[in-house]
Amino acid sequence: MISFVNVEKVYPDGTRAVKSLDMTINEGEFFVLIGPSGCGKTTTLKMINRLNETSDGKILIRDKSIHDYNIHELRRNIGYVLQQIALFPHMTIEENISIVPELKGWDKKKVKARVTELLELVGLDPEQYRNRKPSELSGGQQQRIGVARALAADPPVILMDEPFSALDPISREQLQKDIVALQAKIKKTIVFVTHDMNEALTLGDRVCLMKDGHVVQIGTPEELVNDP
Ligand code: ADP
Ligand code: ADP
Repeated sequence: MISFVNVEKVYPDGTRAVKSLDMTINEGEFFVLIGPSGCGKTTTLKMINRLNETSDGKILIRDKSIHDYNIHELRRNIGYVLQQIALFPHMTIEENISIVPELKGWDKKKVKARVTELLELVGLDPEQYRNRKPSELSGGQQQRIGVARALAADPPVILMDEPFSALDPISREQLQKDIVALQAKIKKTIVFVTHDMNEALTLGDRVCLMKDGHVVQIGTPEELVNDP
């Protein structure tokens, strides 16, 4: 689904953040990038949606180079969830979730039905929440809206950068459980960044351990735990 072929990232100041990265993320896989702060996880993630450009090598999505897609089309087909979710504060939850479907030109009725479906999917009562503003929601609820927004136009790929790390431990554990249940239903290709090994082992179908811009190991949680 997503292949990195000899990918390099050198920032303008000379920092080599990612070095000769070769790996393939499979369709429908929950793929976790883990490693200490500064090892290149976020850089790797943001190269997929071209928020960061590769310095060398290639990234292919469905066998086509990301540079051969129109950049807007690429980004609309890749959901993105961040630690600080940045919902638009003056817009309602419904309006926040509707942004990409509206850009895609869906008719009003279809968008509204999709918002209902998405709120249910992330465990929030549609009638209770659709007209609220983000500030009226807890941190955990805002992250749920972030996930709903990323899923809105049904993109095949979702990128998540430490989406739960700002939450209190109880909300965090609940969202981890819920995201596993959600993935079992939606079967998207998810690339998830974390520095928390427990989270990686709980969520990942496969986990990619990075260090200093290199991949140290890729495997299932069992393989990672059993192979010292
Ligand atoms: P992680 O997500 O694993 O914490 P990052 O991908 O954010 O790591 O960073 C990898 C390395 O690249 C670090 O050394 C970081 O300081 C550096 N880096 C990240 N972004 C930039 C940038 N815009 N300019 C220069 N160096 C950067
Ligand atoms: P994260 O929490 O994902 O690790 P950081 O706090 O490392 O992110 O970085 C926040 C932002 O600053 C990112 O957009 C990253 O690209 C940028 N950045 C990180 N390190 C550097 C650096 N050494 N020089 C310039 N920008 C950087």
